[in-house]
Amino acid sequence: MVIDNASLLIAIAFSSGSLMIALLIGWMNSRRESYLLFGAGGIGLVVIAMAAMGLRNGAYDMFIQLVPFVLLLIGFALIYAGSRIFRDEAASTIPALVIGMVAVITTAVPIIVGLSGIGTIMLNIGGAVLMLLCGREYWRSRKEARGALIVNAVLYTLTAISFACCALVLLLEGRWVLDGPPNNWAEDFNSIMSLVGLTGIGAITLTLHHARNARHHRMEAHTDALTGVLNRRALFDIYPEGHIATGLAVLMFDLDHFKQINDRLGHAAGDHVLQQFADVMREELRAADTIARLGGEEFCVIMRDMDGERAKAIAERIRTRFAGLNLSRGQDGQVATVSAGLAVGGQDEPFSSVLSRADAALYKAKSAGRNQVHIAALRLVA
Ligand code: GH3
Ligand code: MG
Ligand code: MG
Repeated sequence: MVIDNASLLIAIAFSSGSLMIALLIGWMNSRRESYLLFGAGGIGLVVIAMAAMGLRNGAYDMFIQLVPFVLLLIGFALIYAGSRIFRDEAASTIPALVIGMVAVITTAVPIIVGLSGIGTIMLNIGGAVLMLLCGREYWRSRKEARGALIVNAVLYTLTAISFACCALVLLLEGRWVLDGPPNNWAEDFNSIMSLVGLTGIGAITLTLHHARNARHHRMEAHTDALTGVLNRRALFDIYPEGHIATGLAVLMFDLDHFKQINDRLGHAAGDHVLQQFADVMREELRAADTIARLGGEEFCVIMRDMDGERAKAIAERIRTRFAGLNLSRGQDGQVATVSAGLAVGGQDEPFSSVLSRADAALYKAKSAGRNQVHIAALRLVA
């Protein structure tokens, strides 16, 4: 080999060190993403382990083997915990902890009793298992960013294979006790794979983190902060005014005497009522339906492929359920209610036209006494 293994280990330590700093900065900028912290911590331990192995300079006593091996396995377990959290924010870190502990014990015990070869084999098996598990987590996340996550999974798998090769060579040679660091093709393959793997994986993880952040900001810009439904801008992004709305059912909701709630019970109580109404809509509608807050206490619901009868029934359900919450309007016996106007898009009818028909129907519901649903008159085609 052109470069000796010790220099390669030091190179890995340096490249991983910078990666660790990049991940740490990423985490400091968005603390929610705790997988970055697990990744940084894990890589930090790998850096120390690699540097210690690169600097051992021929010395090979029990202590010199044990310390980097244990650090390496704990580092890998942390990286595995991070990959689990990457896939699912709420994922438990216990499996990573348990597998990491088993790997540490099965590696340390043989080394302590003098079977350094067996300890090294177990280290490589532990490393292979943990890297393979990381690959599996990224493979399972691949829907989020197909290309990058598949490359990540492949890099972890190749790193796992390189660890497995190291174990296999020692096993086939029957090297139960070692008098120096193993030096064979598998070790070289493993060092190169660790260098390529760690830097590649790190770069991809950072890119994914930025993509997630951008998506998060985009979502924030389209969501109404109080109720969590879409905002006006998002609605008109999905359905621009000229959009042909044939077959679309458009429901306009406006809470009744809402100003009274604010005036009598305070703005916070008003906010609470708005949130409760949004919850009722979310519960009564399908995930495919669009719910948006147009402003104040006005909401718009859009349902695809819906006829007037079914849409009216849904609007009625929302209206009665909301009234059934018995949210006080601040005056004896008066509860918060909602009025609605419904229009279904006709042949070639633009969205803006359906929207204004729904609005006109809502106005009729209001003037007819509120707490009711009105269906719009058909569109008059000139
Ligand atoms: P109507 O039955 O005719 O619809 O009467 P209303 O009182 O509901 O209608 P109006 O348009 O007079 O009052 C709307 C009120 O909604 C006035 C405004 O202060 C309040 N409002 C707008 N946005 C918010 C908000 O985010 N939170 C709270 N608490 N109140 C809001
Ligand atoms: Mg109102
Ligand atoms: Mg209003």
